[in-house]
Amino acid sequence: MRCLVTGGAGFLGSHLCERLLNDGHEVICLDNYFTGRLANIAHLRDNKNFEVIRHDVTEPILLEVDRIFNLACPASPVHYQHNPVKTIKTSVMGAINMLGMAKRVHARILQASTSEIYGDPVVHPQKEDYWGNVNPIGIRSCYDEGKRVAETLFMDYHRQNKVDIRIVRIFNTYGPRMLPNDGRVVSNFIVQALKGEPITIYGDGTQTRSFCYVDDLIEAFVKMMEQENIIGPVNVGNPGEFTMLDLANEVLALTGSKSKIVYKELPGDDPKMRKPDISLAKSQLNWEPKIPLQEGLKKTITYFENLLSVSK
Ligand code: NAD
Ligand code: UDP
Repeated sequence: MRCLVTGGAGFLGSHLCERLLNDGHEVICLDNYFTGRLANIAHLRDNKNFEVIRHDVTEPILLEVDRIFNLACPASPVHYQHNPVKTIKTSVMGAINMLGMAKRVHARILQASTSEIYGDPVVHPQKEDYWGNVNPIGIRSCYDEGKRVAETLFMDYHRQNKVDIRIVRIFNTYGPRMLPNDGRVVSNFIVQALKGEPITIYGDGTQTRSFCYVDDLIEAFVKMMEQENIIGPVNVGNPGEFTMLDLANEVLALTGSKSKIVYKELPGDDPKMRKPDISLAKSQLNWEPKIPLQEGLKKTITYFENLLSVSK
């Protein structure tokens, strides 16, 4: 099959391109390189089934493909708040352009949605039928509301135009190829620990997140795309739940770092707790994550050790 991966030079997108090529598909990687890097896909460039296009999803494009994985959108709060108007345009206009393409060529299209759909949740753990608690006018809204509108567009193109859609709601995912200055918590803590710099905990560190290793997530993407049971939305993530203090201590233990923990102001609208209920993914996709936090952190630490020693 010919697969289009928007945001294909990013963290998750580059792993997905690699997986699809390994599965024998043709892959078109489309990216505007806002947070993606050519280095993430450099090892794929010689593959005869791999093609790269510099393009912005807010602009229309004509391609003939069988599958579209729509990942283009900055995911780190630091990046998506850098140009909030562009972030919401990317989610909304990107969804319209990619859904238009799917409709025209009868491709199946998967949306990389997010646990941010649930905002600062008052239901715990989060199930797909929870409608969420999202501030429409806060600093995270450009991302949260953009992704919510994208889900609405997917459902309406499905109901109105019979577009063959899939929606996955991704919970915090980490692993190799995250940017060292990405701003997300796992990469921040690891880079700080390896450099012997203070570990920055925002707030009192009692807020929780559930962290999924990238390989587990990519498996869920592929399973979701190639099954006929459900269109979603379906939660994909690791239900193990940790406070940011737990995470900091785990990173300190695994790196053997002497970094001190420092406390910084909690950003606005930061969700207090997050944990996916993945019973739908288990029953319908026969999927659940296999890589526990400690193991995934070790692999990610090795990646950052190599990256930082090269850039010295
Ligand atoms: P990332 O920032 O590494 O990747 C996003 C990619 O999209 C980058 O390569 C970037 O250059 C590209 N991009 C951004 N705007 C674009 C535009 N207008 N046109 C074309 N390309 C554009 O982030 P990621 O973690 O790989 O996230 C990928 C997708 O998964 C995003 O849609 C994100 O919202 C979603 N997601 C990720 C997580 C996570 O924990 N990693 C959680 C929930 C949802
Ligand atoms: N966080 C932190 N220190 C950092 C970066 C993030 O304590 O250096 C916290 C952040 O406030 C949030 C959690 O870690 O409570 C996860 O943040 P991230 O940006 O990774 O993802 P999101 O908030 O979108 O889940």
